[in-house]
Amino acid sequence: MALSGWAEDYVKLVLAVGRHDANAVDAYYGPQSWREAAEAGAPRPLAELRTEARRILAGLGGAEVPAGELVRRDYLQGQLEAVAAHLARLEGHRFSFDDEAEALYQVRPPRTSEATFEAALARLDQVLEGPGSVQERYQRARERVIVPPDRVDAVFQAAIAEARERTRRHAPLPASDHFRVEYVRDKAWSAYNWYQGGGTSVIQVNLDLPIAMDRALDLAAHEGYPGHHVYNALLEQRFAQGPPGGRGWVEFTVYPLFSPQSLIAEGTANFGIEVAFPGPERLAFERDVLFPLAGLDPAEADRWARVQAEMKTLAFADNEAARGYLDGHLGRAEAEAFLVRYSLRTGAQAAQRLRFIDTYRSYVINYNLGEHLVRAWVERQGGTTDAPDRRWALFVDLISSPRLPRALGLC
Ligand SMILES: [Zn+2]
Repeated sequence: MALSGWAEDYVKLVLAVGRHDANAVDAYYGPQSWREAAEAGAPRPLAELRTEARRILAGLGGAEVPAGELVRRDYLQGQLEAVAAHLARLEGHRFSFDDEAEALYQVRPPRTSEATFEAALARLDQVLEGPGSVQERYQRARERVIVPPDRVDAVFQAAIAEARERTRRHAPLPASDHFRVEYVRDKAWSAYNWYQGGGTSVIQVNLDLPIAMDRALDLAAHEGYPGHHVYNALLEQRFAQGPPGGRGWVEFTVYPLFSPQSLIAEGTANFGIEVAFPGPERLAFERDVLFPLAGLDPAEADRWARVQAEMKTLAFADNEAARGYLDGHLGRAEAEAFLVRYSLRTGAQAAQRLRFIDTYRSYVINYNLGEHLVRAWVERQGGTTDAPDRRWALFVDLISSPRLPRALGLC
C-alpha cells in the first residue's frame, strides 16, 4: 500500500482514540464522513486500537517510499509511536515522567536543580523593590499590571492586530485567514487555540484568574500570530490541501495532541513571541500602546519587562513540580508549594497548574523545553537576535515543516 493509504488509516485511528479521551484530538478538518464514522456506535476497544497502531507502523516500515516522501514516512512513524504510547497509557500502563515525555514528544527532559531556580530568585531579589519575600514582592509588582476586566478585550484585540501585522510581513498567511476570540471560565488552561481548518481559529481565553499585562502579548502571539494559528494554517496550506498549493497529505488534517508535533507547536508558539516582538520592541509596544489602553501606568512597563526576563528560567519549575508529583515524590500540596516558591505563582494559579498537570501530565515540557530547543535550533543556523530577517525565515521554515524533533536534531 502507498503511504497515502497508511496515512488515511492513521487519521481514522487518531479519531477513534478521541472517543476514549476528549483531549486527544486537538484539531481535525479532514472529511466529515470520517469523523461521523468514528463517532458512530460504541468506541472501538483500546486493545484493538493498539493492534491497529502496530499494524500501521509495520505497514509504514515496509511501504515503498519515493525519495521526496521519506520525510512524510518519518513524520507518520513518529506520530504513530506517540499514539501507541498514549493508548498504552489509556489502558492503564504507568510511565515514569521522563519515559512518558520521551515516548510522546521524542525528548527526555533534563532536570533543573533547585540551585538554578534559587539563583534566578536571587537576581529577582535585586529587581523587585520593597519589603517581604521575593514571592510577595513579585505578586505586588504583578498586581500593578493586572488588566482590568473591562479592558481585557480591547487589550487583546490590539495585541492580536499588531502580532498579525508583524507576522504577515514574513509568513504567507492564507487569504481566508481569520482568528476569533472567546472568553470562557472553569478550564484547566489559561488559553487554548482551536484550529478549525480553512485558515480560521477560535482562541478561548480563560477568565477564571486575573490577567497580567505580559499575558496579553504572550497569548496573542502564542495562540495566534505567529504561534498556533499560523502553524496550523501553514501546515494546512502546504501539506493538507491538494495541489497545486499543497501536497494532499491527509495526515495533516488531524492533530493528535499527545504527539511530538506538540513539542514543535508549543516551542515555536513560545519562541515566536520574541521573534515577532524582540525585547526592546516588545517593551515599546507594551509601554506605549497596551499599558495606556489598559489604563495602567506606562512607567511600570520597564520594570515588569526586567522581571519577566527571569521567568524564562523559572518556567522550568513546572517540569520539576510535574515530575515530582506524577512520579509520586511530591504530594499535591507540596507540588503547589513548589510552584508558588519557584514559578512565583499565586496559590490559585498553582492550583490551576496542578489541574493542568493532572490532565496533560508531561505535556508541560513542551512549553519551556520546547522553546529552549527551538531557539537553539534557530540560533545554530544563524537566526540570532542581531539577524532578525534570518531568524524570521528559519522560524517560518520550522512552522511549515513536517519534521519532528528527532528529524530536526532538536535533542
Ligand atoms: Zn500553546
